[in-house]
Amino acid sequence: MLNSMGFIFHGHKKEKKGAGEEASKAGEGAAMASPVKSENTSNPGDDTAGNKPGTLGELKGSGYKSLSIREEMRRNLIGLIKEKKPIFNGIIGFDNTVIPQVENAVLSGQNIIFLGERGQAKSRVMRLLVGLLDEAIPVIRGCEINDNPFLPICKSCREKVAREGDKTEIVWLSRQDRYGEKLATPDTTIADLIGDVDPIKVAEGRYLSDELTMHYGIIPRTNRGIFCINELPDLAERLQVGLFNLLEEADIQIKGYRVRLPLDIILVASANPEDYTSRGRIITPLKDRFGAQIRTHYPVTIKDEITIVEQEWQRFNDGDVDFFVPDYIKEVIAEITHLARKSPDIGQRSGVSVRVSIANMETVVSNAIRRAIALGEKLAVPRISDLPYIVASTTGKVEMEGFEEKNEQKIIDDLTKKAILMVFNRYFQFDELDPIVKQFNGGFNAETSENMSAKSYVRYVKEIPGMAKAVKKMTDAETPEIMASVVEFILEGAHLNKRLNKTKVEGKTVYKK
Ligand SMILES: [Zn+2]
Repeated sequence: MLNSMGFIFHGHKKEKKGAGEEASKAGEGAAMASPVKSENTSNPGDDTAGNKPGTLGELKGSGYKSLSIREEMRRNLIGLIKEKKPIFNGIIGFDNTVIPQVENAVLSGQNIIFLGERGQAKSRVMRLLVGLLDEAIPVIRGCEINDNPFLPICKSCREKVAREGDKTEIVWLSRQDRYGEKLATPDTTIADLIGDVDPIKVAEGRYLSDELTMHYGIIPRTNRGIFCINELPDLAERLQVGLFNLLEEADIQIKGYRVRLPLDIILVASANPEDYTSRGRIITPLKDRFGAQIRTHYPVTIKDEITIVEQEWQRFNDGDVDFFVPDYIKEVIAEITHLARKSPDIGQRSGVSVRVSIANMETVVSNAIRRAIALGEKLAVPRISDLPYIVASTTGKVEMEGFEEKNEQKIIDDLTKKAILMVFNRYFQFDELDPIVKQFNGGFNAETSENMSAKSYVRYVKEIPGMAKAVKKMTDAETPEIMASVVEFILEGAHLNKRLNKTKVEGKTVYKK
C-alpha cells in the first residue's frame, strides 16, 4: 500500500545507499533475527497459524491480551535473554558495545538514536529490531493505521466498532509489516511523514476538518510498529517540530487543522555524530525524546573486519572459474581500511565504511578471475599485483583531504604499501629473508605481473634458495596459482622491508638488488 506513495521497498540483505529517497519495510531476508518464540509469550497470534481469530468477538474469546509495542518488545527481549539467544544475528563486533545498550533501551521502552559514521551497520541493527516483535498482531481489517481492535484510534474504526461490535473483522499483521523506514532529506515533507488532506476525499463531500479526509503518511501507517528515520539532522526544522508534536502531544496539525493521533510507535533514528551534535541541526525538545543515544563503531579488529567481508561480499558461483583468497590478501584488504580510518589524508567526518573492504575484496577477486580466464587457468588467486585496482572501489567511498586529484592514487598506494608491510611482518622475521635476498646479490632479478601465468612463478621457488621454505611457511598447497600469489607476497615484503629494489617496466614489476 505504501508503494502508491512513491516509497521504495526492499528486503535485500545488503544495505543500499545513495538511492536518494529510500524507505522500506524490513525484509524477509536472512538478516531477520530468528522468530521470537517462548512459552511465556504465547498469544493466539503467535503459533496457531491458520487458526487465528477473525473477528473482535473471537479475539476476546481467545483470551488474547493486547500490549503496547514497548511492552511487547520488552517481553520478547526478556524471553530471548532468558533463553540465551542472540537478538541480532549476523551483527559482528557489537556484542560488548552496541548490543547491551540496545537491550537496555528496549527494556527501558526508550526511543533510540544511533550515532555513527557511514557503514557501521546502523541500518541493519535498526531493521533487526523487528525480530523483537511478535510474529503477528491483530489489527482491524481495512484500517490504514493498523488499529488495535481493542483500542481503535482512527475515526473510521471507532465508528466501525461501535456499529459492528464483536463482528468487527480483524486481520493479523506480520512483524515484517510493522517496520517503516525513511531517509531524511531536506525536501522530505509533512505529507510524506505524517500525512496530508486527501483532495479526493474532500471532493467526495467531506469537510476539511474531518479526520476522514486524511491521507496518512508513513509514520501513522507504521502505527504499532517501529519507525526508523535515517540521517535525522537532514530533516527540516518544521518537520522536526511536527515529529515532536506527534510523539509528545499525540496530535498533529495539517494545513491548520488539528488531528488527534495517539500513535503507539517506537522511534529509531540514525545520524552522523558531527551533524547531530552541531548546534541547531536538531531541535532540543526532539533530542530529549530519544531516551538512548548509542554510538556505533567500525570493527575494532582486523578479524572482525574480515568476518564481515566474508559474510557480505558478492560471489558468483557460476562454476566457470574457481577462486581462492589467501588469508594474507584478506588481511591486507582489511588493514588498508583500518589504516584509512586513521589517515590524515582521508576525511574522517563521514568515515571509511566496511563497504570499502567489501568492494575491494570483490575487485581483487575479479581481477584474479579475469586473469585466470584470459590465461586459461583453473584457479583464480589474487596477488599483490591485483591490489592497485582497488583505487576504483575505494575512491568513490572515501573523501580525500586536499585538492589535487593526482593524490588519490598516491594516497591509496601508500596505504596499500603500509598494509602489506604490516601483514608481511606478522608472518616473517626480518632475517628469514636473508637467503632469498642473497640470491639477488649476483644480479639475479625476478619479474612479476598481474598478467603473468602462475607457472612462470614456479621457477622462482626452485631458483631462489630459501623461497621454497618461505612459501611452505605460508601454504602447503602446490597449486601454481597459489604459489604464484605467495611468491609475489614474499618479494613485495622483501622490497617493503628495503631488502630488494623494485622497478616497473612496461606493466611488469622487476625485483632486483
Ligand atoms: Zn483505524
